[in-house]
Amino acid sequence: MEGMYVVCKEHVEIAIDRFVDDFEDAPDVVDLKETHFAAWNPPPTCEEKGCDKHGEFLIV
Ligand SMILES: [Zn+2]
Repeated sequence: MEGMYVVCKEHVEIAIDRFVDDFEDAPDVVDLKETHFAAWNPPPTCEEKGCDKHGEFLIV
């Protein structure tokens, strides 16, 4: 999805920086462990290149 990143804990700050660069606005950080989406399944792994850790946070 456009303007959304799913990342591991390690890459949260990088994803926030990228979001601010791309959209010139501060993102919300959603903990995927505490939030459930009815119509959307987050990707299981971090979207950061070369990272295959579990995706824990949604940057949106
Ligand atoms: Zn990662």
